[in-house]
Amino acid sequence: MNSTNQIQKAEIHVHLEATITPDLCRKFAHRNKVDLPKDIFGNKYAYEWWDFYDFIKKYDLVTSVIHTPEDYRELTYAYLKECASYNVIYVEAMVSSTHAKLKGMTYDSFIEGVYDASKQAEKDFGIVSRYIMNGIRHLGADSVHNTAVEVIKNPHPCLVGFGLAGDELHFPPNLFVKTFDMLKAENIPITVHAGEWDGPENIRNAINLLHPTRLGHGVRSIEDPELVKEIIDKDIILETCPTSNIATKIYEDYKSHPVKSLFDQGVKVTVNSDDPPFFNATIQGEYKVMDDLGLNEKELTSLTHNAIKYSFCDEENKNKLLAKLN
Ligand SMILES: [Zn+2]
Repeated sequence: MNSTNQIQKAEIHVHLEATITPDLCRKFAHRNKVDLPKDIFGNKYAYEWWDFYDFIKKYDLVTSVIHTPEDYRELTYAYLKECASYNVIYVEAMVSSTHAKLKGMTYDSFIEGVYDASKQAEKDFGIVSRYIMNGIRHLGADSVHNTAVEVIKNPHPCLVGFGLAGDELHFPPNLFVKTFDMLKAENIPITVHAGEWDGPENIRNAINLLHPTRLGHGVRSIEDPELVKEIIDKDIILETCPTSNIATKIYEDYKSHPVKSLFDQGVKVTVNSDDPPFFNATIQGEYKVMDDLGLNEKELTSLTHNAIKYSFCDEENKNKLLAKLN
């Protein structure tokens, strides 16, 4: 048994706003005068929730305490510091301008908060981080489109791609074709949440209609061997989040989770913590899961290699990070 502490890690599927710890949540709530319901803090997980729709509700409540670019700076720095302590060398986190603007921040000001923390953490801990702007599908096609237009019009060195997150079941890929055709025409790298709540047909549609090079989760592709083959042939990488899927009851336990089987079949996978305190997940813990499922040190490092190679980071930094792994 190797020690997963020693393995150099990378994380490319984590929602930055959702990394907020209960301590920071209380601190921001106090600072920003937000009255939080007492029952959001839980025993089983850091935040209490009952099913997916309650999870979305609690997610909005918990993240509603983030009001200022300074909050974003503090939150980002805290998460990167924690990751660095797990020997994580690269983080690519999803952010939501929709959230920031709802709280009165401008697009530029919240990104500057994140960017300041990113630079400081790189200086302090050597950890490199980049960010993906998410469109939120359950806010509708227009909202996602407007977010994408804003990204295209306001390039920023720390913003490297566009993602689609939110309610996958009721907001399928075909609603967003125009937006993702536009992003592709602008050469913006794309990742789409698919194959978490919905099955193979939805994953196929995401691949064929939205031009992703990566899928958030994608694990339900296991239900269709032809689709698994297509994912391998098209060199699409899966950002799997085993603990998240078990917490939300998509799979019963790690043994029945498809990540190991997909890995064995030759799919390029990565492991990720998704919304860490909502599931008591850590990136360190996700590597430990793979260790427990039988991956050796070289195979565990291959997860990091996949994450960096298929990240949306510029080639120069990518090569520097990959060189660190060898
Ligand atoms: Zn996610």
